[in-house]
Amino acid sequence: TMGTLDGRTFKERRLDRGEYPVAVQMLWPRHLPSNADDPSVPKNRFVLRQKGSRSPTSGGLRFGSTENSSTIDSFLAKFLNQPQDREYADLCMLPELTEQTLLDNLRDRFNSGHIYTYIGPILVAVNPFNFFPIYNPKYARLYCQSRRLGALPPHIFAIADITYHNMLRIKENQCVVISGESGSGKTESTNFLLHHLTTLSQKGSSGTTVEQTLLSAGPVLEAFGNAVTVQNNNSSRFGKFIKVNYRENGMVSGANVEIYLLEKSRIISQAIGERNYHVFYYLLEGATEEERKQHCLLQPKDYHYLNQNNFFACEAMNERYEYERLKHSMEAVGFSQTSQQKIFGMISTVLLLGNIEFVKRPGYHSDENAYIENEGHISIISELLNIKAQQLHQALTMRRTILKNETVITRYTVPEAINTRDAMAKCLYNALFHWIVLKMNQALIRKESTIGKKGYYIGILDIFGFEDVGAQWNSFEQLCINYANEHLQAYFNQHIFQFEQEEYLKEGISWTNIEYTDNTECVQLFQSKPYGILRLIDEESNINNGTDKTMLDKLNTYLKGNEYYEIPHKKEDAFVIAHYAGKVKYQITGFREKNKDLMRQDVMMVLKNSKSAFVRELVGDDPVAVYRWNLVRSTFRAMNAFKNSTKKMKRSESVDRLKVPKEPVNMCGGRRGSDSHLSAFLRGELNVQDLIPEFCDTSVFKTIVDRAKRHPSKKADDRQSALKSLQAVKELIGKKPISNKPFSVSRQFEYSLNRLMRTLAQATPYFIRCVKSNNEKIPNYFDDNIILRQLRYTGMLETVRIRRAGYSVRIQYDSFMNQYRILLPNGRNSTKQDVVQFFEDHPLIETENVQYGRTKIFMRDAEKLLLDDHLHRV
Ligand code: ATP
Ligand code: MG
Repeated sequence: TMGTLDGRTFKERRLDRGEYPVAVQMLWPRHLPSNADDPSVPKNRFVLRQKGSRSPTSGGLRFGSTENSSTIDSFLAKFLNQPQDREYADLCMLPELTEQTLLDNLRDRFNSGHIYTYIGPILVAVNPFNFFPIYNPKYARLYCQSRRLGALPPHIFAIADITYHNMLRIKENQCVVISGESGSGKTESTNFLLHHLTTLSQKGSSGTTVEQTLLSAGPVLEAFGNAVTVQNNNSSRFGKFIKVNYRENGMVSGANVEIYLLEKSRIISQAIGERNYHVFYYLLEGATEEERKQHCLLQPKDYHYLNQNNFFACEAMNERYEYERLKHSMEAVGFSQTSQQKIFGMISTVLLLGNIEFVKRPGYHSDENAYIENEGHISIISELLNIKAQQLHQALTMRRTILKNETVITRYTVPEAINTRDAMAKCLYNALFHWIVLKMNQALIRKESTIGKKGYYIGILDIFGFEDVGAQWNSFEQLCINYANEHLQAYFNQHIFQFEQEEYLKEGISWTNIEYTDNTECVQLFQSKPYGILRLIDEESNINNGTDKTMLDKLNTYLKGNEYYEIPHKKEDAFVIAHYAGKVKYQITGFREKNKDLMRQDVMMVLKNSKSAFVRELVGDDPVAVYRWNLVRSTFRAMNAFKNSTKKMKRSESVDRLKVPKEPVNMCGGRRGSDSHLSAFLRGELNVQDLIPEFCDTSVFKTIVDRAKRHPSKKADDRQSALKSLQAVKELIGKKPISNKPFSVSRQFEYSLNRLMRTLAQATPYFIRCVKSNNEKIPNYFDDNIILRQLRYTGMLETVRIRRAGYSVRIQYDSFMNQYRILLPNGRNSTKQDVVQFFEDHPLIETENVQYGRTKIFMRDAEKLLLDDHLHRV
């Protein structure tokens, strides 16, 4: 379709993942393209090089910024003169509204290269799987002028522009909620939005560090959290909410990225046609000889976690080039060379862990005892993790349990050992991902203090899209992903339909209700208490002898008959949910393990004992363990403080009897396997009292208190502080350590989702509805059926209907009188009746497009435009 322009042949190359024209300048600030003087570089391509240096830094070829400027100009001219008689830039303008006209219009626009279309303020973006040259600086400049939405052809930059200027004008937080199924273009849209937002705030001045950091954050997050899936070569396997904070003057004051639920199962195995996280392949293909040696790297085919279905290379992806790009982005985000190497070392560790093999040998308790087959791996991994090989060895093959103060050691069976190994790999990778986000967020906080200064934010939500990966494969991950999407659809409905119609009712506007598919009951199916899906899953995960099967039975028992829950006709270990976007069948196998996501504390303790501060930092923030650790630590400190202050008192037998080590790790003087006691405490199996029985024995305790009271020290202060620390100990011991069970995955997810929803509720939302043009990722191919399906389940037709019938402009009477006082007969003091009269008399205004509510006046966009035009002419 884009064969010739301006009489010249316009050859377009399909862009590789993540390649887009403008961003290259931002992401590579020091690597601006230059091929003007280099005959070896083909036209329309350029080689990235260090500024001032002659040699290419990466060998990567990029399309884009060097697109011939006349190409851009002619494209721009065509873009600005979009035909309005055939294609409607705003679907609300369609002369006749049916599913067919809606589809036809989107197709016409798509075929002439117009992938963006409005529905009032909502942007519909049809992913063409082909990058048009519409994101270059010329377009950025065009959409910088705070113009009314719709004054220029639809574009994603316009959404960035309007949120930015709205935020500054009405002084409210804004958010952009991007939705669409997997592969529909949410992440690309996020990147474009961020790109334009940073352009807007810079206004010509060179980018600040926060802005550059923010733009480089994308490639880093994508390398570690995205993967090739059947539906998308760059599928986000986590959700993110990016908040860009601004000062009142419109300068960026910082940013923050919040992450939702990284898919952990992918680290250990992938479905057919899918890959592990990008970074593994980038590293293995791109590493230098030195890095290969340092991190003991092998080839992708040599790793169990990568070779299970022999899918390594994805066409359309240049791993070596991506590795370079990743390293540059990491540097821009603030990761020094040293921390980059630490990160890559951890990636290698995760892969090597997967190669540990177990064999079964008969043993004392059973014939299924697991032994490590390839011992050599243990020493390499221990070296990489800086831990004791012996400890790692034990943690992977033996379980320690505490029975009546005795530590019992049993050997795992082979499947148990494999589970432990995989849990360790998942935990390490997940911890690494969160650590990277944490460091990134620290870099995104502007150094100078913003406390006390007023500011607002623009939030962008890009989560994993709705997924149905086939009846045999949907699992717990898909359930979480689809639940989040269900929530978002409800949020959209609420804003577009519910709030809107409620307001008309409240204001007494004459209005015919518009029906839409309400999915709140499906959201309820998930989150109601105590019999919602999430609660039931949790309950069954916590029962000791529960299984996946009993979980399914429980779901079936309680949810049978629910309109959105189905039991498959053929007997099978699965259940079906009727989501807004279609029915999805979920296989129950693995649900329980995935939800519990237990990282055995024994393994955790080994990592916590690492000599490497980096490893300790990585695993240090399991929230429950941290809480309990702090608790036991402050208890010990208080006890020691007590001991110290009583030293000056008259010596008492009881005080001497107290054996309190300085730190909890040295507890019990090595007796009774202190480590196991501590880890049992961190697991929630023991209480503080159990750790320090001597201290907590009530009779001993009572004696100490009595003596402390009866034998006052010479200094009243000492006695005081002794009693105070004693009180602290008592309180700490009495304190109930939070839930003995660690938070389950679904609990954590629900919690963070609810928090997100509360944040979204406090901001003015803009919506971007991403649509996938076809399922095969074919460039410029508009598949009617695939698109129609998406239009239907997202309620696109109803959305256009309500935007068309509704009144997008609503102004309180007093601000209306004030704003248009020169037009009104009695100026600022006009009455409601005067306003009605004014509109009746106005020669151009269609009175049926204006309604007079109780407190506000309602009108359509066109009327507001006429009014403003009138105002300017007066
Ligand atoms: P997921 O839910 O799986 O993360 P997603 O909605 O985030 O999916 P993206 O990764 O943004 O999907 O897009 C998938 C692919 O589609 C991109 O890698 C890119 O090739 C193409 N694409 C998306 N948006 C555009 C666009 N505006 N122009 C050209 N190609 C695009
Ligand atoms: Mg994505």
